[in-house]
Amino acid sequence: MTTTPGARPSRPRRPQLNLTVRSREQLSPSMVRVVLGIDEPERYTDIAPPEKYVKLVFLHPGTDHPDPADPQDGSGRNPDYWELKETLPGDRQPVTRHLTIRRYVPERHELWMDFVLHGDEGYAGPWASRAEPGDRIIALGPGGKWTPDPGASWTLIAADDAAVPAALAVLEDLPESARGEVLLEVDTARDVQPVSAPEGMAVRWVFRADDAPGDDPALVRAVREAGWPGAPEGVQVFAHGEREVMKALREELFTRRRLERDQVSLSGYWARGRNEDVFQAEKKLPVGQIL
Ligand SMILES: Cc1cc2nc3c(=O)[nH]c(=O)nc-3n(C[C@H](O)[C@H](O)[C@H](O)COP(=O)(O)OP(=O)(O)OC[C@H]3O[C@@H](n4cnc5c(N)ncnc54)[C@H](O)[C@@H]3O)c2cc1C
Repeated sequence: MTTTPGARPSRPRRPQLNLTVRSREQLSPSMVRVVLGIDEPERYTDIAPPEKYVKLVFLHPGTDHPDPADPQDGSGRNPDYWELKETLPGDRQPVTRHLTIRRYVPERHELWMDFVLHGDEGYAGPWASRAEPGDRIIALGPGGKWTPDPGASWTLIAADDAAVPAALAVLEDLPESARGEVLLEVDTARDVQPVSAPEGMAVRWVFRADDAPGDDPALVRAVREAGWPGAPEGVQVFAHGEREVMKALREELFTRRRLERDQVSLSGYWARGRNEDVFQAEKKLPVGQIL
């Protein structure tokens, strides 16, 4: 970390990962898995899930730098993110998008990332829908440090599609003795994926398509209807997804179920009608605050 007398310390710079696509697999109509090899894997530590994410970097078209995410770029070189950040003007700055490391396979130096396909708008979703073996991309990271408490007596995992990769990584980290529920919200039954879970963790998919006008979101209804234990002691909750849906869970978790903040990981991953740049900027405003 660098400091100048009188100035606020700048954030530590996350290392840059140079990644090459190895394969792409359609997991459901709305989700695609991209498997990426890490160049120089010995440079990275602490990359294994659960709840680890990277920021994928996208350059503006026409930027005068090697652009690994541009299929027309034949240079074979990767730009240095921090140099771009320092040298490009404000309106040409690289765009970043958060993605969970769904799995890290150390013997193959391989990362899995699962992307929601939400249409043609944006960077990450459209990039993943077209990714081909050999394509390259750079990322910053990893970040994230939440891990489930293996001693919890009851665990609730609640997530929408964007947070399904993180939810499933958390689920894989739970001990075989874990008890609780996993509630996963997607559009329709066609978006369901196979999930393996400890016997005591009941997995339930809920569908936005079933929402009637004026209903609370499907995930909020499912959390309310979960088989909660009588007392809050020993309970842990991982609830990540669309910002307004996460806000709607606060009353259930903190008022009705009387959970303390340190029992709950509640996080907005995106906001309907906002791209990630707006979503991140709004975190500084009351509308963007979850807790
Ligand atoms: C820690 C963390 C981990 C994340 N992990 C994942 C992950 O593993 N997989 C994943 O897919 N996403 C994940 N997300 C969410 C992802 O960063 C956002 O959805 C992001 O907006 C996608 O970028 P984009 O370029 O595709 O779309 P943007 O350019 O950001 O947005 C374009 C438009 O698409 C809409 N949109 C964005 N995301 C969605 C969505 N999920 N469903 C419907 N509409 C959407 C926006 O509201 C906007 O209108 C994560 C977010 C965080 C904070």
